Amino acid sequence: MTATLAETAAVARDGVPHYRMFIDGAWVDSTTAIPVVDPATESIVCTVAGADTEHVDAAVAAAKRTFDAGTWRNTPPVERAAVLDRVIGAVAARMDELTVLSSRETGMPVRLAAGIGVGFPLVHMQHYAELTRTYEWERSAPVSGQVLHAGYIRREPVGVCAGIVPWNFPAVIAVWKAIPALMAGNSVVLKTDEKTPIFALELAAMLRDAGLPDGAYNVVVGDGPVVGGHLVAHPDVRLVSFTGSTATGRQVMANAAGTIKRVLLELGGKGPNIVLDDADLDAAVDGSIYAFLLHAGQACESGTRLLLPTSLHDEFVARLIARLETLKIGNPLDPATDIGAVMNRTQQERILGYIESGKAEGATLAFGGGTPSGAGFEQGFWVEPTVFTGVTNEMRIAREEIFGPVLSVLKYDTVEEAIAIANDTEYGLAAAVWSRDNQRALEVAARIEAGSVWINDYHNIDQYLPFGGYKQSGTGRELGPDALDEFTQAKSVTVDLSGDVSRRAYGLVLGTPPATA
Ligand code: NAD
Repeated sequence: MTATLAETAAVARDGVPHYRMFIDGAWVDSTTAIPVVDPATESIVCTVAGADTEHVDAAVAAAKRTFDAGTWRNTPPVERAAVLDRVIGAVAARMDELTVLSSRETGMPVRLAAGIGVGFPLVHMQHYAELTRTYEWERSAPVSGQVLHAGYIRREPVGVCAGIVPWNFPAVIAVWKAIPALMAGNSVVLKTDEKTPIFALELAAMLRDAGLPDGAYNVVVGDGPVVGGHLVAHPDVRLVSFTGSTATGRQVMANAAGTIKRVLLELGGKGPNIVLDDADLDAAVDGSIYAFLLHAGQACESGTRLLLPTSLHDEFVARLIARLETLKIGNPLDPATDIGAVMNRTQQERILGYIESGKAEGATLAFGGGTPSGAGFEQGFWVEPTVFTGVTNEMRIAREEIFGPVLSVLKYDTVEEAIAIANDTEYGLAAAVWSRDNQRALEVAARIEAGSVWINDYHNIDQYLPFGGYKQSGTGRELGPDALDEFTQAKSVTVDLSGDVSRRAYGLVLGTPPATA
């Protein structure tokens, strides 16, 4: 039987579902009920209990107790993976319901909510289950010059891991934080953004029903600096995995320094999307739109700087605009919709502010630039897809992450110049190169300072490949073949097989052993 919301994470209150936090295997309410607002309609999707620092302390204490008790971390990896298999089944069974919830809480079109909102969590959880079964939890290692020693390396969990999740892709990022940490035997305290808490809390119900021990997975919801800040600084938290803006990432790193913990950061981007002069233009035009418009541009790895050779510029821009005119912006729940709403009024005003700054700095507004009006747009937070041409890499719209549907088009004359412009940024998350000549594209890709470079494609985040940033786009990697390394630590163990004291290095301190009778 498919569980309904009321039976799992949420209870009905004042006519809307109310989610509570999840601490030590139990739903925990608070005096604060934060409304979760549908960005397209401004209606209330649900409310959620907001945490204070005492909830964080309780969640960390539960996580530590469970870790110290060893029940979960001493569960064999194949059995941990079996728990995840059951969660995967539960998510798959609720695919349609979770897709609608994902679309309603984030404003993303329902097609995207199915593909990335829920599809990515499913596929990525499958990847983590497979890794858990095949990971080298222990391996023998040669020991230098000590023939009668055996050495081996154990990968052990780190302890209590904190995951801090932003609002743009709250489900898949919650999975990236919580699931590899749990599969490695850690305990987790997740802090979700209060605007988008649903999936992390639904996941709590599914993990509990799948057999995860109480205290291994906890969710608190609330304000970044207060709740997130307290979690990051907590002395019992041994690892922080944070996704969010580069500015907040700096604070997280500084805040974690006092208690020396592992810090993984997935931060912002200003992705260069380089079209070479031999590119397939049909593919590159569509790909460049996909690059900057996925989730109305609210994706960290977006291709927001389009670098065009001067020789192709006018034709390419004309084609791009003609294609943009065919796209449908509006009701995210309509399967025909291509572009949904932006997160909230703050985000809308921020994006419109960047559009003003582009105009003020002398860029040419070639498409969009406003908010759509008329039927269907009376409520909600909307920004038209927007294209600026005549952009130079010094302008704010080329340097700063807008996190909205705004494309900056820059011209270049030589490939050397394109590479220089592409790398002239504090960010280094993702980039793309478009060319019919793979060898040529590969040579450019090798010189781009970014954690992911897609050739003739964009946003191709593949669970088998690591994803993360160069430069100020972050530290550490998610997904990929080594994803569990990030959530484990190496313990070196040697065993002296000789039983012979004279073979040991004790002589460095003890001198020659006394002769035995
Ligand atoms: P944000 O940095 O404002 O917030 C992210 C999360 O951190 C939220 O849960 C927030 O409550 C919390 N937070 C805020 N201040 C904190 C503090 N001082 N200590 C601890 N936690 C704190 O970012 P956002 O606006 O929610 O998300 C958008 C940003 O996230 C963009 O810059 C985007 O590029 C980035 N992002 C990066 C990736 C990636 O994988 N690299 C993925 C998605 C989003």
